[in-house]
Amino acid sequence: MLRIGCHLSSSKGFLAMAQTARSIGANTFQFFTRNPRGGAAKEWLQEDVDAMLEFFAANDIAKPLAHAPYTLNACAKEERTREFALETFADDLKRLRMIPGAMYNFHPGSHVQQGAQKGIELIADTLNRVLKEEYTTTVLLETMAGKGSEVGRNFEELRSILDKVELSHKMGVCLDTCHVWDAGYDIVEHLDQVLEQFDRIIGLERLRAIHLNDSMNPLGSHKDRHQKIGLGQIGRAGILGVINHPALRGLPFYLETPNELEGYGEEIAMLKREWTK
Ligand code: FE
Ligand code: FE
Ligand code: ZN
Repeated sequence: MLRIGCHLSSSKGFLAMAQTARSIGANTFQFFTRNPRGGAAKEWLQEDVDAMLEFFAANDIAKPLAHAPYTLNACAKEERTREFALETFADDLKRLRMIPGAMYNFHPGSHVQQGAQKGIELIADTLNRVLKEEYTTTVLLETMAGKGSEVGRNFEELRSILDKVELSHKMGVCLDTCHVWDAGYDIVEHLDQVLEQFDRIIGLERLRAIHLNDSMNPLGSHKDRHQKIGLGQIGRAGILGVINHPALRGLPFYLETPNELEGYGEEIAMLKREWTK
């Protein structure tokens, strides 16, 4: 079975997200733990989470992927910003104990003139302060497009972060198709080689989720502008190559394409049709 979903708004709560996912043919979904541009999170109600977990069991929906806010920058230059990242990260991981076995994805950060090496150290330091052995959440580093001073623009940088994390068995990677394309990895013509590189540098066992997005821009553009499936530079065949690649079978795929619910439903239906059993 193809495990596929999309990014959903969490404004109506957990059960509502699970119901929305089902209504558009999704069997998993992604949500922001709080306002993506920062700020305090609403309270998570235990009965709402429990209702969602029951709905999952009855409808074969897999545990969702939580996404940290974009403003979380664990390697910011200003200490105040790094402090905010640390507090947000710690609070999100505490909350996620309510959803056992969930995954938590975050953008490694932007080093803003400090250099990638310093960025990597600050990110690993944050992880070493927030990860706890008793947590069941897997924390995912997202592959980035390399816009501005983003850390995680190549597989080597992600590997360097993982190498510095003490509880690195709690960590994985989320590969974003738009981001790796924009970073210069040709997943259209050379997907096998890209995945071999990933395996050699990071290890495919670390790959836990895929963000499935087309890109508005050409290979290596370092832009990060998502496009609807088939309307971008990766193209429909490129995306179908990803969902059907033998090394990626069994992974959950999350659409973050510029769509309303109806458009997401259409993309999910198309991808299910084109997925080879
Ligand atoms: Fe992201
Ligand atoms: Fe993404
Ligand atoms: Zn993006």
